[in-house]
Amino acid sequence: MPEGDTVWLAARRLHGALAGRALAHTDFRVPTLATADLSGQTVVEVASRGKHLLLRTDAGRTLHTHFRMDGTWHLYRPAARWTGGPDWQVRVVLVTEDWVAVGYRLPVVEILATVDEPSVVGHLGPDLLGPDWDLPRAVANLRARPDREIGPALLDQRNLAGIGNLYKAETLFLSGITPWTTVDDIDHLDAVVNRAHRLLNANKNHWQQSTTGNLHRGEEHWVFERAGRPCRRCGAPIAIAEQTEPEQPTYGRLSYWCPNCQRGPAPQPTRAVDKARPPSDYRRYVP
Ligand SMILES: [Zn+2]
Repeated sequence: MPEGDTVWLAARRLHGALAGRALAHTDFRVPTLATADLSGQTVVEVASRGKHLLLRTDAGRTLHTHFRMDGTWHLYRPAARWTGGPDWQVRVVLVTEDWVAVGYRLPVVEILATVDEPSVVGHLGPDLLGPDWDLPRAVANLRARPDREIGPALLDQRNLAGIGNLYKAETLFLSGITPWTTVDDIDHLDAVVNRAHRLLNANKNHWQQSTTGNLHRGEEHWVFERAGRPCRRCGAPIAIAEQTEPEQPTYGRLSYWCPNCQRGPAPQPTRAVDKARPPSDYRRYVP
């Protein structure tokens, strides 16, 4: 699942391959950019900001992409076969002398003036993997809404940028508090945010996302996508429920937690296998 660490690594790989290189050919397969052309421009840098990826050129243009749930960038040598998905899922192709960068399934692809980047990333809080990471400011942003539940508060990129559903679930398990605990009821909020920071940092140099320290398939997480399976600490079944907020009652995110290891308010868990109405991240573990 693309979270801050995935986008950080994608930016670093793309930067390594493309920075300082001229774009020989570009192809944007999204309707709004059908006639766009960055060929002849040199890539100055590729950077991540939270879950946004920014590719800047020497002509003062920025290609902005966002991965959301399923997007990805692949790098190929010019003659290599593309393996990231069927052709119709390709959104962007950038060709240099040495590399072909292919963006698949990217729900956000736009080109803007580099000076206008604040219009697409200016709303973001401190970036957990950015050079300007600012723990006190992130904590202050969270504290500004003391009655908010910590689960959605951590996902809100205006507070701090880079945490998705996986790191939210794992950070709160390791902190021993449920996602429904209100910000006001958390004494050591800085320790919670620091834990998320450490988890993202520990995973930023590889594509796997492990919070247990174990990279073996099925062993990487404490609670995320483990509903109904035994807690690795106490053996109790991991619970799952959808978490919504009053201002967005139709937009829920799945929360996973151990009812035994995590203190705080929580709803009645959803049945672990609810085939009648599977929420989106269910597909991975429904047998
Ligand atoms: Zn437990």
